[in-house]
Amino acid sequence: MGPWPGWTADARANPTMSARSQGRANRGVRRDAAPQDAVRRAMLAGAPAGFVLRPPWSLAADAFDRACTRCAKCIDACPTHVLKLAAGIVQVDYAEAECTFCGACVDICPEPAFDVAARASGGKPWHAVARIDASCLARLGVECDSCGDACEAGAIRFRVHAGPVPDPRVDSTRCTGCGACVRVCPATAIEVRAPTA
Ligand code: SF4
Ligand code: SF4
Ligand code: SF4
Repeated sequence: MGPWPGWTADARANPTMSARSQGRANRGVRRDAAPQDAVRRAMLAGAPAGFVLRPPWSLAADAFDRACTRCAKCIDACPTHVLKLAAGIVQVDYAEAECTFCGACVDICPEPAFDVAARASGGKPWHAVARIDASCLARLGVECDSCGDACEAGAIRFRVHAGPVPDPRVDSTRCTGCGACVRVCPATAIEVRAPTA
């Protein structure tokens, strides 16, 4: 079985949380619901310039942000603590955890912020995939395969080439966007984002 009901790729994805994730400490997230006008001001003042990954099965960014009241129920319900409220947006932060696609965030949300039908029918939670940038140690000639070890979906393959060490490539057809590779990368070279973002 894959990380969500409709996942069919031939991969070694494990829907259960890894031992690593289970031991992860709770992260400091804001649990109180901020008033809507204050939230909107914060969004305008502090919206991040880079790509923001909203929760799995969330609606398109604008629709999600409109429907979400920042009640933090999803943040509290997430067993891996991979969700946080930052710059007024509920978003995924892979710095210390990964998404197991358990669906708890979707199930608990009282607002029309998620594509509940897609989750129920086993639809993909998003199109986000991992990307490895030029700061990757292996691409700079230093031996490293931490991301490959962390990827339970088998989406990271190391390519032997003319350089001193094999370098990693992400197979976007296998990558679930779970983020397990992100925090193990010693070079912070991996980001999970939409393919076109
Ligand atoms: S699907 Fe589960 S692990 Fe992923 S963000 Fe939602 S609650 Fe957290
Ligand atoms: S996000 Fe990283 S660990 Fe998860 S499936 Fe994709 S490449 Fe593998
Ligand atoms: S863990 Fe990071 S530095 Fe190491 S091979 Fe993977 S992307 Fe490169």
